[in-house]
Amino acid sequence: MKYPPLQNYINGQFVNASTDHSLPVISPLDGSQLSTVPLSASKDLDDAVKAAKAAFPAWSRKPIKERVQVFFRYKYLLEKNMDELAKLVQEENGKTYSEAVAEVEKSIELTEFACSLPQLVTGEILEVSKGVECRTEHVPLGVVASIVPFNFPSMVPNWTIPNAIALGNCMIMKPSEKVPLSCVRLAQLLKEAGLPDGVFNIVNGDSAIVTAICDHPGIEAVSFVGSTKVAKIVYQRATSNYKRALALGGAKNHLMVLPDAKPDMTAQNVAASMSGCAGQRCMAASAMVAVGEVDHIITKICEEAKKIIPGENLGAVISKESKERIESYITEAEKQGAKILVDGRGAKVAGKENGTYVGPTVIDYVKPDMSVAKEEIFGPVISIMRTETVDEALAIENANPYGNAASVFTQNGGMARYIIDRASAGMIGVNVGVPVPREPFSFGGWNESKFGVGDITGKSSIEFWTKLKKSTTKWNPEAGVNWMS
Ligand code: NAD
Repeated sequence: MKYPPLQNYINGQFVNASTDHSLPVISPLDGSQLSTVPLSASKDLDDAVKAAKAAFPAWSRKPIKERVQVFFRYKYLLEKNMDELAKLVQEENGKTYSEAVAEVEKSIELTEFACSLPQLVTGEILEVSKGVECRTEHVPLGVVASIVPFNFPSMVPNWTIPNAIALGNCMIMKPSEKVPLSCVRLAQLLKEAGLPDGVFNIVNGDSAIVTAICDHPGIEAVSFVGSTKVAKIVYQRATSNYKRALALGGAKNHLMVLPDAKPDMTAQNVAASMSGCAGQRCMAASAMVAVGEVDHIITKICEEAKKIIPGENLGAVISKESKERIESYITEAEKQGAKILVDGRGAKVAGKENGTYVGPTVIDYVKPDMSVAKEEIFGPVISIMRTETVDEALAIENANPYGNAASVFTQNGGMARYIIDRASAGMIGVNVGVPVPREPFSFGGWNESKFGVGDITGKSSIEFWTKLKKSTTKWNPEAGVNWMS
C-alpha cells in the first residue's frame, strides 16, 4: 500500500473511525492498492456534527470579509501544491496528469469566486416609510453536508467547500469511497490556510453514512453530486427529514451536428468531449445527433478518436466493473445492429495490465430506443443517431429524462438560438463540446440531472447555503405609529 490507512478528519484532527470495516482504495491506472478507506459508523458522524456545531457560533459570527481571508490563503496553497494535488487526483481517479491539473485549476477558480462573496452578499436596505428601514441579510444555515462522487476528487468537493464555508457554515464532507485521498490534502491545506478546527470535517464511508447524514437532526442542508439513482434517494430522504437539499444526478448530453458545422473544429470538439476524463464527466458528449448530410464530419471524428491513445492521452476508467459495464454497452449496441466505427473494447496498456482502460469508441447508426442512446454510459463512447431535421434531433434530446447539457455545432446563429430555446437542458453549448459555465455563472442541470432549487456553484449557490433574515427598524420617534407598529 502506497499510503497508510485513511482516517476521518474531525475537529482539526485525523482520527480512526469507530469501526474496523474498510474498503481498499485502488488506482485505476495500474490496479495497485493505494490505501484503505474506513466505513464509518453513525457515532463518527455524531462526533463530526458535534465538532461542527461547536465551531459554528464563532465562525458564523466572524464578518465575511474575515472569513474569506482563509480562502485567499487556501487558493495560494492550491497553487503552491498544484503538482502534488494533481498527481494524487491522477493516481486515485485514473485521469491523465493534464486533466488532473485542469481539475485543480478549476478548484482554484472556484476558490477565487468564494473570495468575491463579500461583494455579492451585501444584502439590501430601504427606507420603506418615513424613518422605518427594512434590511435583508444572508445568514448561514449551520452544519451542512456535502456528498461527492468519484469523477472529480478535487473539483467537486471544491464546488461546495469554499462557498458554503465562506458564507459561514460548518461542513461535513463525505468523499467518494473510491477516491478519498484528495480530500485529505484539502483538509490539510484548509488547516494550513487558517480555518479553525471543526469548521471542516471529513467522515468517510459508503451508502450507510450517506443515509445517516440524511437522517441526522444536527445537519441543516445536504448537497449531493452523483448518479441520478442515488440523487433521488438522497433528495427524498433529506427533504423528508425537513432538510434543505440539492442533489445533482447523472447525464446524457446530446451534441447536435448540423451540415454547416466547421468540420475540423467540430470533430476535434466532439472527440475531446466524449473522451476527456475517459468519458467520466457529467458534461461529456455521450450522444450525437447527426442532422442531414454530415458524413464528412463523422469521418473526421473517427480520425480524431484514433489519435486518443489509452495510457497516453486517455486515462483509465474507475474500476474493473466500469470497464466491463462500458464494454457490454458497446457489445449490446453492435448486436442490435449499430455500427462500431472506432472500437475501444479490450484496450490494454503495456506495463499496466491491471489498469482499467477503455479506448475511444464511436458507434454509428444508433437508434433512439437502444440502451447506448438512452442511458448514461460514463465511458469514452459516443453514440451517433441520424435525423433529417433539427426538430427530429430536438425531439430525441427532449425525450431523454436527463437534462444536464446539450450542444449544437453550426455556423448559423439563428439556428443556434432556435436550439438554445428548445433544448431541455440546463447548460447549452454553441460550438462548445463541454459547456461548463465558468465562475461567476452557476453550474446545474435540469430534469433528472438535478433535484432541488438553485445551482451548486456561482451566484446561485448563495441562496442554497444561506437563509435571508429580514429586519425592520425604527429609531426615530417622529416616525410615529402606523400599521407596522
Ligand atoms: P454514485 O451515485 O454512485 O455515488 C455518489 C456518492 O453517493 C458517493 O459518495 C457514494 O458513496 C454515495 N452512494 C452510492 N450509493 C449510494 C446509496 N445507495 N445510498 C446513498 N449513498 C450512496 O456516483 P459515482 O459513481 O461516484 O459518480 C458518477 C455519477 O455522478 C455519474 O452518474 C455522473 O453523471 C454523476 N455526476 C454528476 C454531476 C453533476 O453535476 N450533475 C457531476 C459529477 C458527477
